[in-house]
Amino acid sequence: MRAAVLGGSGFIGSHLVDRLLALGQDVVVVDDFSTGRRSNLAHLAGNARVQILEWDICKPIPVVGPLTTVWNFASPASPIDYARRPIETLEVGSLGVKNACELAERAGATLVHASTSEVYGDPLVHPQREDYFGNVNPIGPRACYDESKRFAEAYITSFARARGLPCQLGRIFNTYGPRMREEDGRVIPAFACQALDGKDFTVFGDGSQTRSFTYVDDLLDGFLLLRAKGDGQPVNLGNPNEMTLVQLADIIRQVAGSGGKVVSVRPLPENDPKQRKPDIARAQSLLGWQPKVPLHEGLKPTLEWYRKHRAK
Ligand code: UDP
Repeated sequence: MRAAVLGGSGFIGSHLVDRLLALGQDVVVVDDFSTGRRSNLAHLAGNARVQILEWDICKPIPVVGPLTTVWNFASPASPIDYARRPIETLEVGSLGVKNACELAERAGATLVHASTSEVYGDPLVHPQREDYFGNVNPIGPRACYDESKRFAEAYITSFARARGLPCQLGRIFNTYGPRMREEDGRVIPAFACQALDGKDFTVFGDGSQTRSFTYVDDLLDGFLLLRAKGDGQPVNLGNPNEMTLVQLADIIRQVAGSGGKVVSVRPLPENDPKQRKPDIARAQSLLGWQPKVPLHEGLKPTLEWYRKHRAK
């Protein structure tokens, strides 16, 4: 078995590479290292079963030979990253996805695509089921990401219908774990590092917005089951344990044993979803999947990783 992981140096992509290798597969990583990091793959140096190709997938992807799966995890994914790179974000979700489909078709592979809960935008239906069409502002600050991910789902499902490409779409809800960049801007790295430094937690808005957080190992269990058992339609992959950001700060403070108070440092950013929680009935029935790692457990290795790895 031979897989290509597009975006294999990123936070989730690099964990996926480790999982595929552990399953005995050969892996080709394709990444332009724009938001991913070489250090996420450093432990694989000298591993003859891994090939690393530095390449922007917006150009046709020059991987030759058969592949069982093309995993597309290539995209900026944090609000700070996609605000800094709006054009690149739109292009990787459109041109990059076209090239991912064409690679999968040429190589005889199934395409597994990392979609996102952002396709639901600032949702008016709660919790979010896969058949909810979402509430997205097409010209707002998050549009470059949300619309590129919506376009990607449209492109892939059309490609599958028109050309018979086997595909699976996993909609990822907020995921955390080791290797999320400290400066990534997302709330878990921000709060984790603030806790370790004994600083206050910087909340945007009043902290009453909700999210539900999935540990990366659980997410990858879901993706591997999706590859094996998916029906080609999108599946939510996320932990339904919803909480406010104030509650999140309390849990991180407890697990870290340090951290200050919650302070509101700016208004809620424009179009920032006020609530988010996956309905995972489809993942449960179709894949037999549900997350196992409670937040306080997943935070332990995450905090440990920041203790060791972040810039001093
Ligand atoms: N957030 C926050 N403080 C931070 C970073 C993020 O209050 O330092 C908020 C952000 O406004 C959002 C939530 O935390 O309401 C989750 O943000 P994140 O960027 O992690 O992911 P999102 O779910 O928005 O894609």
